[in-house]
Amino acid sequence: MNVSHASVRAPFNWPAVVMFTLTTAVVLTVLPWYALNFAFSGAAWAWFAFCMVATGLSITGGYHRLWAHRAYQARLPLRLFYLLFGAMALQNSVLVWASMHRVHHRYVDDPERDPYSIRRGFWFAHLGWMLRDYSSARLDFSNARDLQDDPLVAFQHRHYLGLALGMNLGLPLLVGALFGDPFGFLLLGGFLRLVINHHLTFFINSLAHTWGRRPYTADNTARDNDLVALFTYGEGYHNFHHQFQWDYRNGVRWWQIDPTKWWIAACAALGLTHGLKRVPEFKIQRAMLQRQFERARERLRACATTGRFAVLHRLLEQELEAFSATVNEWTRLQGERFEAARRSLADHWSHSELRRRLQTLERALHDQRRRLRLLHLQAA
Ligand SMILES: [Zn+2]
Ligand SMILES: [Zn+2]
Repeated sequence: MNVSHASVRAPFNWPAVVMFTLTTAVVLTVLPWYALNFAFSGAAWAWFAFCMVATGLSITGGYHRLWAHRAYQARLPLRLFYLLFGAMALQNSVLVWASMHRVHHRYVDDPERDPYSIRRGFWFAHLGWMLRDYSSARLDFSNARDLQDDPLVAFQHRHYLGLALGMNLGLPLLVGALFGDPFGFLLLGGFLRLVINHHLTFFINSLAHTWGRRPYTADNTARDNDLVALFTYGEGYHNFHHQFQWDYRNGVRWWQIDPTKWWIAACAALGLTHGLKRVPEFKIQRAMLQRQFERARERLRACATTGRFAVLHRLLEQELEAFSATVNEWTRLQGERFEAARRSLADHWSHSELRRRLQTLERALHDQRRRLRLLHLQAA
């Protein structure tokens, strides 16, 4: 662990310290006392569930995938929803959050420049980085000019405190008063929801950089983990996300638990989102195969002294040759496609023909992944 001396002595960030201490203290003391003496209404629990989902999706779907990564476009009503319930999530304004997150992607794992680098420990990546004014989390909006130019994002940034207080205190009290249970609404939909949601989303910086598999890249600490995805609105497929950050999906397979992806796709069906970005399947398969080659090489090194080594090594070399031939063919085909598009020659026939050839290459990589898995087993 490489922690600079200056970082250790960084002064406390008092607003954050007070906010985290106060909200946690209320949940641990006032909430149980209220539950024992007054009992919460069903409506208050429904409000809690609604606020959990609304604030969670505003961070993952809005702050993260829409604004930090521009993975899709959203219409005005949805952007307003994200801005309001994002303020309710108490994770700072879109501008601050997204700018910092872009730094995280750019310098991931760097102890001095990644604002929530896991190399400085689990606790630091989870919450500690917000409790002091560390130089690694210094604000610099030069990477977020697009967001500064967005009038709605700029408005939310300017009036963040008022919006956050109104959404966290004013709204629960108002809606709660309509149902005759203002304090129940405030405690469940305000305090309890806030503390749980904070830690669930903070897990993306801590747990999703610690626990799980790395199927796409080993260049950083980000992991894929189905269980983490379940509790983080789908953000637990973090290895995929760090490799392909502009894809609106984190769980790229249909069966992977990614509620944010389903939400964005459902909104597209309603006309609220559009321009959803997807990484070509070939690139995904290529990344997975490269990881398999790395692992197979490691495995082979381990059995370098055994008799099987020469045979397996030759097999691996053949697979590598086949892989680079497929990748070259794909690159050539992409060139052909762009050229056809440039000359407006992409009529229906050539389009479907190119598609067919691309699918054949995708299948070739897919088959090769199966062969490599076998080779990996043989080297065990
Ligand atoms: Zn990350
Ligand atoms: Zn991200």
